[in-house]
Amino acid sequence: MTADGPNDDLMNGVVTTKADEIVSYNPATGDEVGRVPIASAEDTAAALRRSRTAFQSWKQTSFAERKRLVMAAREVILAEVDEIAHLISSESGKPFGEAIAFEVAPVLDLMQHFARRSERMLRPAKIDIGLFKLLGRSSRVVYHPLGVVGIIPAWNYPFSIPLGEAVMALMAGNTVIIKPSELTPMTGLKIAEVFEKAGFPADAVQVISGDGSTGAALVEAGPDKIMFTGSVATGKKIAAAAAKDLTSVVLELGGKDPMIVFEDANLELAARAAVWGAFCNSGQNCAAVERLYVHESVADALTQKIIQKTLELKQDTGDKETTSIGAMSSERQLKIVEDHVAAFRADGARIETGGRRNPGLEGLFYEPTVITNAHNDMRAMREETFGPTLPIATFSTEEEAVRLANDTEFGLTASVWTRDYAKGRRVAERIEAGTVCINEHLYTHGIGQTPWGGFKNSGRGRTHGREGLMELVQGQHIHTNRIAILPDAWWLPYTPTAVETFRGFASKFASGSMIKTSLMLPLLFKRIRELLKK
Ligand code: NAD
Repeated sequence: MTADGPNDDLMNGVVTTKADEIVSYNPATGDEVGRVPIASAEDTAAALRRSRTAFQSWKQTSFAERKRLVMAAREVILAEVDEIAHLISSESGKPFGEAIAFEVAPVLDLMQHFARRSERMLRPAKIDIGLFKLLGRSSRVVYHPLGVVGIIPAWNYPFSIPLGEAVMALMAGNTVIIKPSELTPMTGLKIAEVFEKAGFPADAVQVISGDGSTGAALVEAGPDKIMFTGSVATGKKIAAAAAKDLTSVVLELGGKDPMIVFEDANLELAARAAVWGAFCNSGQNCAAVERLYVHESVADALTQKIIQKTLELKQDTGDKETTSIGAMSSERQLKIVEDHVAAFRADGARIETGGRRNPGLEGLFYEPTVITNAHNDMRAMREETFGPTLPIATFSTEEEAVRLANDTEFGLTASVWTRDYAKGRRVAERIEAGTVCINEHLYTHGIGQTPWGGFKNSGRGRTHGREGLMELVQGQHIHTNRIAILPDAWWLPYTPTAVETFRGFASKFASGSMIKTSLMLPLLFKRIRELLKK
């Protein structure tokens, strides 16, 4: 932090120049990308009040109107694809082509999906209430929006994650406040611009820039839901702060995702997938391959392919179409990578490629690093690295592979590589992770139709898919009695006949069997007659 301009903190990608301003820098070049004010706690509370007011009219809009606006926002993005991708690239360091492939394209697909399908997914749902139907009863669930949804994202997918969550929240009838990461504030403002250009009503979506203190102020202000993406440590702080007002939270947290390669896998494909899964976005993916377990009989063959493909990757600034690996987003993150690589070395693992900052480039470039002889006792195999490292360990049996994969506090995603699909599914179902792919890795966050979220310390709740949409509504149960002429047998006053009837409820009605229940009909009529006489 500095009083009046960039200095040694510059390559952190963010420098606070004044107490109330963030300056965003390109981590590849050190150039300033832009500056934004830090919203104060008062600003944040005022934004929340405006959001509540906007909610009163937004929740009345039809699905058709919401769809029209979301589809208009798609058009705004489509008209500026390259511009948006370059902005994402300049703030995060990732190659701009990657910003199109893994941010712009997937979020456009998510937008059309939820614009078109939310109405059907949120249609009132009839519930089968079993034998209660015989009493002329029916139940359905009606879905209501929650109110104000606060979105606090990380910096690694600064466009697609908050935008996708915002669209889902809006389609469900909520209003939204986004507090972008302090490392990518200009991308956050771009999201606000997209909604504004699309014609969304004022305050339906607000973007307030700031750092962790602004995020904390947003939680403190008391929205109706928090959608958080970030570290386990911050997730715990947010969950604790939100508990004060019983604000519900979805937490999308870290990962240490395993890739298991069996001896019968297509090794060429597995090697390519491992290189992509570990090194795209400089490994700064919650679902990156952070541990590769390969069957000992094919370990050498797979490792050689991985090393060869890694050495072919071109690392450079993200603005070039030939760049495969860009800069990391912050000095802080790069230092974690250095620490983990040093720990691997010290613990006896072998650094096969990389293992250092790129000496030919000036920004925050860390070379893609393949590591062999890794095992689970090493600290760096247990903590999230979130950088371009690919540690490889071996296993000898299916049982051991599952045990090693599950030997972690995290459980976001995993992958299993085999030509035997029965084995693939068997192993996948034993892995403790929110998503397990067979012969694929990482990319299902880009399929907005599918649920996303972690087991264990990787999170709580879901984003994306039907499950993610349901996080953004509250279900109201409407129960109707269509034969409202007789008292219920369980009403007061109680008598010996009542108690006998209740025994029948327990032994017959509650069995779910129509035949058994019919045996208690005489008793039921007796009880009703008794009640009618009282
Ligand atoms: P972080 O926890 O440092 O910050 C995330 C966000 O929280 C930022 O916007 C930050 O300003 C805000 N914040 C910080 N302190 C806060 C507080 N006390 N109250 C409210 N908000 C606060 O995480 P990061 O470094 O930005 O992101 C990296 C982490 O995100 C990694 O662990 C990664 O695995 C995880 N991540 C998870 C997913 C997923 O879908 N599970 C996706 C992307 C990233």
